[in-house]
Amino acid sequence: MSPWLYEKLEWLSKLDNYIRPERIKNYIKLDANENLLLNRNFISEIALQALKYTDLREYPIDQFEEIYKQLGKYIGISKKYLAIGNGSDQLIELILSIIGREQQATVFTPTFSYFINRCKLHDVTVNRVPLNKTDNTLQKEEFLNSAKQSDMVYICSPNNPTGNQFDKRLVLEIIDILEDKLIVVDEAYVEFADYSLTSDIAKYNNIVILRTLSKAFGLAGARVGYLIANEKFAQLFRSIIQSPYPVNSLSLTIASIMLSNFSYIKDTIELIKNERKRVFDYLTDLKGIKAFNSNANFIFIETYDKYNAILKELEKQGIVVKMIGDIEGYRGCIRVTIGTEEMNDKVIKSIEVAI
Ligand code: PMP
Repeated sequence: MSPWLYEKLEWLSKLDNYIRPERIKNYIKLDANENLLLNRNFISEIALQALKYTDLREYPIDQFEEIYKQLGKYIGISKKYLAIGNGSDQLIELILSIIGREQQATVFTPTFSYFINRCKLHDVTVNRVPLNKTDNTLQKEEFLNSAKQSDMVYICSPNNPTGNQFDKRLVLEIIDILEDKLIVVDEAYVEFADYSLTSDIAKYNNIVILRTLSKAFGLAGARVGYLIANEKFAQLFRSIIQSPYPVNSLSLTIASIMLSNFSYIKDTIELIKNERKRVFDYLTDLKGIKAFNSNANFIFIETYDKYNAILKELEKQGIVVKMIGDIEGYRGCIRVTIGTEEMNDKVIKSIEVAI
């Protein structure tokens, strides 16, 4: 093997690898923030309908037109501000590919670990600013000081794994101050949140908002993400940065039909938000753990020394959650997706029994 390739592979083997969630048979899956309130048959029916419309011999062309139309309608924005990707994971990847080597990104932590790991792969240095541990708020001055030394910032809003959104005025103030930086705002969970920055996009030429149909729309398996940016960035992204056919015709058609069925999806979002409040209120009354306020479809819980006991009980009850453990000074953390009322009751019970 040539020395440079050997060296590169050695370097790659030292990076964090992505750990795919495990499929455990018959377990209640509350580890990946999917929308489990959407009826599976409803989605299957849409997929069958999409299959009938789709000629898989052809590259997708009309399907891109249609999804841009549906997304534009859904967000209330012209399609010239939009670009599609193979999940927002792929959009992150491509944005980092244009940031380039030896540049710097500021993030607050903890945040979406995939973003940090992909920065490392692209040789982008990550500058971390810890959140205030008591309430997950941003340390504004520290964040700004770090961001001023960086080329880009990443703001996950609502944040994964902590679940919260910062005050909108604060975020807009930061964006105003950092007018010469690229600002990536990841709104993967925005349908469950208090606000989006999409209506502010026209005012700024340095923000890229990432969105996905994997969460509220229940299409994690279809791999459809999109970004919203100023006209020039979106146009360059569609025509030069992105590959010609990043999403397959079937997924695009399924996604378009789902978007035109938003009223049903909205009902499930409302149910999830109600359940989130119920679960949060219940957990808040329990001694020995701390549940954090969430604007997403999951709840972040610090369980301290009860971590192992809780995990054991959840496992006994057949429930899988995201096991985070100790992270950035938070102790014994778990992240639990809000599921159906019945699933959530099981989670609450298991935690109560374990502590
Ligand atoms: N951003 C955040 C904050 C996420 O939590 C996720 C999913 N884990 C993604 C982006 C990626 O979503 P997808 O690639 O499925 O669109």
